[in-house]
Amino acid sequence: TFFLLTFPYYSIPPHLGLYIGWRCPHYLWDCFRIGNESKCFCGHLLREHQVISDISVPCHVSQCRCLMFCFIPSRPEEVGEFWLKRRATFDPKAWRAQCRCKHSHEDHAATGSHPCKHHGCCCNCFESNFLCAACDRCWEEHETFFETRETRRRGGRPQGTDTVNNWRRPL
Ligand SMILES: [Zn+2]
Ligand SMILES: [Zn+2]
Ligand SMILES: [Zn+2]
Ligand SMILES: [Zn+2]
Ligand SMILES: [Zn+2]
Repeated sequence: TFFLLTFPYYSIPPHLGLYIGWRCPHYLWDCFRIGNESKCFCGHLLREHQVISDISVPCHVSQCRCLMFCFIPSRPEEVGEFWLKRRATFDPKAWRAQCRCKHSHEDHAATGSHPCKHHGCCCNCFESNFLCAACDRCWEEHETFFETRETRRRGGRPQGTDTVNNWRRPL
C-alpha cells in the first residue's frame, strides 16, 4: 500500500505507473489529473516538490514550509470561470484561486488549516470562493491522491494510459 521514492517526481520511472489525481475522496473519477505543471497550495509547481511517498511530498523551494503537495486550481477554467479569459484586461499569470476572505491561496499558510497571513485578516482556514469545474464542489472537499496502479485497481479506479481519457466523470 506504500511506495518509497527518493528521487524527484520528474525522474520517476514511468513503469511505476504513478497516478496523481485530485478528487473528493469517495469519487471513482478524478476531477483533474495532476502533472508537473500543476500548482500546489503553497504556490509552487509539482515539479518543485519531491515525491518521497504517497503521504510525503514536500516542496523544495527554499523558505517554503509545504510538506505535502496539495493541488489548487491555477487557471480560471478549472473553476468554471471561462468568461474571465474573454476580458481584454485578463492576465492569466496574475490569476490566483481565492478564499472567501478575498485573499489568494498564496496569502494563506502552506501548512495546517491554512490560516490567512494577510495583515488584519482574521480568516483561520482557507475556504474556496470558487467551485471545482468538474464536480461543482468546493476546494476543501477535495484531496490530492498519489496512487500506484495497484492502489487504483483495488479502489476500482481506471488505470493504464489507455484509459486516461475516460478519467473524467462520465457525462
Ligand atoms: Zn512550496
Ligand atoms: Zn507545496
Ligand atoms: Zn482566507
Ligand atoms: Zn484573508
Ligand atoms: Zn471536483
